[in-house]
Amino acid sequence: MGSKRLKAVALRGDKKRKIAVGDAGRLKLVRENFIKTLQTSRFHQGLTAAGTGGGTSFLLSIGDCPTRNWNSTGTDSMPTCDKLNSGNMDPYKLRAYGCHSCPIRCGALIRVKEGPFATQEEMHRPEYETLAALGALCMNDRVEAVIKANEICNLYGLDTIAVGGAVAFAMECYGRGLITSGDTGGIELKWGSGEAVVALTEKIARREGIGAILADGVKRASERIGKGSEEWAMHIGGHRLPYHDPRVSPSMGLHYIADAQPACHVGAQGASILEGGRALGADPILQPPELEFYGAYDKKGQMHATGLAYFQTLSSSGLCALYAIQLPIPVAELLSPVTGWDIGWGEAIEIGKRILTLRQAFNAREGVLPEAFKMPKRFFDPLTVGPATGQAVDFETMKRGYFQAMAWDLTTGKPDPKALKALGLDDLVKDV
Ligand code: SF4
Repeated sequence: MGSKRLKAVALRGDKKRKIAVGDAGRLKLVRENFIKTLQTSRFHQGLTAAGTGGGTSFLLSIGDCPTRNWNSTGTDSMPTCDKLNSGNMDPYKLRAYGCHSCPIRCGALIRVKEGPFATQEEMHRPEYETLAALGALCMNDRVEAVIKANEICNLYGLDTIAVGGAVAFAMECYGRGLITSGDTGGIELKWGSGEAVVALTEKIARREGIGAILADGVKRASERIGKGSEEWAMHIGGHRLPYHDPRVSPSMGLHYIADAQPACHVGAQGASILEGGRALGADPILQPPELEFYGAYDKKGQMHATGLAYFQTLSSSGLCALYAIQLPIPVAELLSPVTGWDIGWGEAIEIGKRILTLRQAFNAREGVLPEAFKMPKRFFDPLTVGPATGQAVDFETMKRGYFQAMAWDLTTGKPDPKALKALGLDDLVKDV
């Protein structure tokens, strides 16, 4: 969209022409039960109260949220991290909001009226990823600075996850003496400086000076800066990392390196539930394997195939990724009365596999090889805090098992022609 100078796509519906559903009575029943489940879930009540940023310091305490450009984690690495919990933005809150018809309503509009980080206008309250990226990752505990940098990113259409990663990478380069304030236009890129986070975000947005070096992401920035900086450019296949440590959730890590879109924190929700030993529903296909959480990495291919397919079906149905954290969602049970087709869980998982395979086939056709998506070195050292303490996760073995379960070639990335046909993707056989 950026290269086409396209800012947004807007659609307008016709209120008078309601779209009918297949079985309104059955849908009402399933929907009412589903909404009740969401509303009584403590996790989702937390989302209503504070959005995803309510537990930033909790995620740090269990080793999930990184600090200092992924050099550290845990409360001791940043004792003031609780200043980044979204409750600290309550004084700036104007009102809550939510997506259309959502019972959770996890968003809020805020405005900082005065001070060095005053915002231009009202804006969305930063979510967890933004608080981690422009806050904890840079050791910046000033929530107002995160809000201001978030506003700059929003105004310019930039991904806060990527910008935070670039700022933290630059701070590490600065700390190691690879760049100086002469290179940064006078900005002292010290860990924890809210002023530096905001000033550098502005430079990246405008591609000014050092901002031009960082604006294409940390991979390209490290190629430009050189001097060994590639080692702390945290990316997978050039794609910036989100702020969930893959050692805390091995399924999330598998998804980072095995999905067609690398380093994405959205998509592993179903696999994570199964990995935690919980079922995704009553159907036999949705049951977790009896495997240890850390370990048995060569036996989890089918579990990942089911869990990742589950999420694709959920997401393509228009359901929110946040619903799927911690809770099994009745996707097939909702799809059937909406469409009027008898969709069971076997078919729902097959739909998800078709989507996963279509995306993978796109990469294979374009010559994007699976080996391009590798975990950065820093994740091979075991964590020293949280539930993953001391665990060395074998991500590559998990990837091999998942590719096998999906019938994708681990070297070329090409889906097996028989598997393509079985999924009704016959047209793709000639492409890959
Ligand atoms: S649909 Fe998802 S993102 Fe939107 S308000 Fe609901 S929970 Fe939040």
